[in-house]
Amino acid sequence: MSEDYHMDPEAFRRHAHELIDWIIDYLERRVDDLPVRSQVEPGEIRSRLPEDPPSKGDPFEAILRDVDDILLPGITHWQSPDFFAYFPANASYPAILGEMLSAGLGVQGMLWATSPACTELETHVLDWLVRILDLPGRFLSTGTGGGVIQDSASSATLCALLAARERATDLESNRRGVDRPLVAYASSQAHSSVEKAAGIAGIGKENLRLVDVDGSFAMRPDRLAAQIAEDRANGRVPFFVCATVGTTSSNAIDPVKEIGGLCRQEGLWLHVDAAMSGTAAVCPEYRFIHRGLELADSYCFNPHKWMFTNFDCDAFYVADRASLIRALSILPEYLRNRATESGAVIDYRDWQVPLGRRFRALKLWFVLRHYGIEGLQHHVRRHVDLAQQFRTWVEADDRFELTAPAPLNLVCFRHRGGDDINRELMERLNASGDLYLTHTVLDGAFTLRLCVGQTRTESTHVDSAWERIRTVATEIDPGMR
Ligand code: PLP
Repeated sequence: MSEDYHMDPEAFRRHAHELIDWIIDYLERRVDDLPVRSQVEPGEIRSRLPEDPPSKGDPFEAILRDVDDILLPGITHWQSPDFFAYFPANASYPAILGEMLSAGLGVQGMLWATSPACTELETHVLDWLVRILDLPGRFLSTGTGGGVIQDSASSATLCALLAARERATDLESNRRGVDRPLVAYASSQAHSSVEKAAGIAGIGKENLRLVDVDGSFAMRPDRLAAQIAEDRANGRVPFFVCATVGTTSSNAIDPVKEIGGLCRQEGLWLHVDAAMSGTAAVCPEYRFIHRGLELADSYCFNPHKWMFTNFDCDAFYVADRASLIRALSILPEYLRNRATESGAVIDYRDWQVPLGRRFRALKLWFVLRHYGIEGLQHHVRRHVDLAQQFRTWVEADDRFELTAPAPLNLVCFRHRGGDDINRELMERLNASGDLYLTHTVLDGAFTLRLCVGQTRTESTHVDSAWERIRTVATEIDPGMR
């Protein structure tokens, strides 16, 4: 400890090396042996932490020791190759390095002027992603649109909803509050963030219509049209639709083209949420997921789910950036500067809810430059192939059934023995620590979900997962083989 209490540069150098070694050892070795889902009880971690904060600083060795002894048991290992739960939040070494550099630079990029490179790299990398995923050209910053990094898909949906609200009310809602009966739409399978956004934006959760889905859990455009007509007939003002490409429960893909046609006809803002599945479009053969996206006003996907970029990083695009900026811009005196007033720069604070922002583009840039399009395609194909292999095993086993189509890397399946058996199966598997998977309910039935998207998941991990599932199923219900 130096006299001025700071960590001196040589100590930093040493500890940084130690920490990098720790991370490599964790990801390459330790994570394989630790229970994937943390096994601690509520309150257990806090009970091991000292009641009082340190009055004198601790040596770094002691801090790192506590990471091992106290925190690690309370970590659910999202980076484990046996993690098949939820949707992934995969990371990679280039992303970690980008994150480290971002912390080292310590930039707060609210304005172009507060770090021009932070803004310009972000704009550039998001334009790259338009090309990498073959997204519609209207999302490029070189036209009327553009992309911005949000912390999460939830924030992207909220910003889209706010921009749509202002467009629908001629910029009156920001000033006076929402004074007309606006109505928004999403499918019954849309992510809960849409409902949350409707509450926050003052639309009211009751004014979000959850539209019926078809047999594949995708939104039915005919039901959307009928609901819009009914709302109009009742004097309401439809203004916003959120379509999902890859729903959280079952990876259903809403028919964006048909929904978009309807939105155009009716003058509604269309936002498309492709949080996890959007990454699949890096491969031309999976670009069917974006059919009709040229009709969308806004779009988002999360590189922090399936694009090897550690949390948090959501790529959010608008076709008409002016409508977003008008909804979110406020310019107090203390933020005025010549660059902003010249109109020649982007100030990303006007594209998001918070003022301040991290230099997230760095980690994404590191990832894209390290893997290249080819590397990303390789891993996305690998993940989809592994999930499809798993799907064929489920189909071939009489005891199990698929509960939804599996277009990409998520397989929804269940034991035919009923909800209790499936619940028990999941609980035993997760308690074993060997793998981690989560559930949903589809058509009223408890369903298991297995999503392949972890950076280090190989065929051996999916093989063992299936083997464990079958073995535990036999233990629970020996009669059914
Ligand atoms: N939308 C979909 C389809 C999701 O699956 C998820 C999360 O899994 C979200 C939105 C929310 O993502 P975030 O955590 O980035 O807000």
